[in-house]
Amino acid sequence: MSTDAAIRDYLATGALPALPADHFIAGAWAAPTANARMETFDPGLGKPFHEFAAGNEEDVDRAVMSADGAQDGWGRTKAGARGAILMRAAALLREEAARFAFVESLDSGKPLQEAEGDVAGAARAFEYYAGAADKIEGDTFPIGDAYLGYSHPEPVGVTAHIIPWNFPISTAARGIAPALAAGCTVVAKPAETTPLTMLMLGDLLHRAGLPEGVCNVVTGTGPAAGAPLVAHPRVRHITFTGSVPTGQGVMQAASRNVASVILELGGKSPLIVLKDADLDAAADGVIGAIYENAGQVCSAGSRLIVERAAHDALLDKVIARVKALKIGHGLRRSTLGPLNSEPHLQRVAAKVAAAKARGLSPVIGGAAAVDPETGAGWFFEPTIFDDVALDDLVVQDEIFGPVLAVQIAEDVEDAARLANGTDYALVAGIYTRDFAAAHRLARDVDAGQVYINEYFAGGIEVPFGGNRQSGFGREKGLAAVHNYLRVKSVAAKIG
Ligand code: NAD
Repeated sequence: MSTDAAIRDYLATGALPALPADHFIAGAWAAPTANARMETFDPGLGKPFHEFAAGNEEDVDRAVMSADGAQDGWGRTKAGARGAILMRAAALLREEAARFAFVESLDSGKPLQEAEGDVAGAARAFEYYAGAADKIEGDTFPIGDAYLGYSHPEPVGVTAHIIPWNFPISTAARGIAPALAAGCTVVAKPAETTPLTMLMLGDLLHRAGLPEGVCNVVTGTGPAAGAPLVAHPRVRHITFTGSVPTGQGVMQAASRNVASVILELGGKSPLIVLKDADLDAAADGVIGAIYENAGQVCSAGSRLIVERAAHDALLDKVIARVKALKIGHGLRRSTLGPLNSEPHLQRVAAKVAAAKARGLSPVIGGAAAVDPETGAGWFFEPTIFDDVALDDLVVQDEIFGPVLAVQIAEDVEDAARLANGTDYALVAGIYTRDFAAAHRLARDVDAGQVYINEYFAGGIEVPFGGNRQSGFGREKGLAAVHNYLRVKSVAAKIG
């Protein structure tokens, strides 16, 4: 059946055949030891569509011991051979992209065209790190003629990957591909509301030639499956993407085993528009920055900081574009999909209700919604609060939904002050035609990544990560490979 036909079939019947239901351990599907199952939901309809393994400590231990058993062999596999397997995985992912995007859209709720972009991005990550595998090199050290000093980058060992629900396949790929390239083995734990594409990826990597045990996937809740994974003594590194409180707990668990950790946490990222900017381009940028994936993006531009002289004209343009957004089921290629879960919808709604109770009034949106075609689903209207004070929670608190806070700046310096006025520091966007002002702001804004004149510019080649409450460590780019390596230096007397 073609993917289009499968989507039509799913929308008519609410059922989708041939989805994975077990863990993926040691190169094979593995039933949960306690035989416990949990449901995953279609957020566009607000209904369950599939059951999968609810893993526990025993399942996690099987997966970690499988990775541990495979570590020596994979770590010693010739780097070019590791790269060739990753390249085959990228090709397979491109061949099977339609199915992956369909399942990703269904499980997360995001519009199909966004899921297609995520799957293409995941394939790019495997290509990029396939090419990096045999370019991981050591150094020599100048310690005199009578000595030879050199270093050897070694894989750190078993790595754990805790994956969030907002970008399941792309977050998985950006962590797992460099880990495998570096010669590490993997145990991945996808979020409990989006388990499917990570399971499919585990199976795909095996079909691409990855030896058994090198990439394992355990599903289940954070407390039952995530916590024992990050606390497992054989795990030597943890790549975590998720919320600040969970990240803090993961760091504590890692400390007990003296394992390394990188944390990709939340954000409240500013999109700064100076008065000389191309306001149409800026308005397009704002829409993508806050309404892609219904604002459930760690690097969303959830604060628009605009110079006063451009405020009215820009807001008119943004509101006109908001009115053109189409709420609907992701598989129907809507432009605003649902929130990923009912509890998350309730969280977003409560934060907006609290803002209204404080006297803030949205200039547009502000309420939960449903898919007009079905009357169902966990949607929230695209919402804008204008001219919000720096200390208001709408500016300070990550809402993780389609809610934009507008802040008015008096000049460029004021824009930088406002931009740096929260505890988060993940990314920042700048729209201006003034080359010097753009780069001054890029210097002065506290962020792990700055986009100039195109929000979300860049790709797998560009390092990404946060400062302060947004976390630490960098993913993407060649920088990411070093998360998975430890340096052994050798000094020998030879003369
Ligand atoms: P969360 O922290 O609750 O969950 C994230 C992942 O952690 C899930 O897989 C979950 O099962 C797992 N988890 C939960 N408890 C755990 C525990 N005790 N031990 C180990 N793992 C555990 O976050 P969420 O609410 O699902 O995700 C949204 C948050 O993630 C937002 O704050 C967002 O900003 C952040 N996020 C950040 C990035 C980034 O790249 N910086 C990307 C996506 C999401």
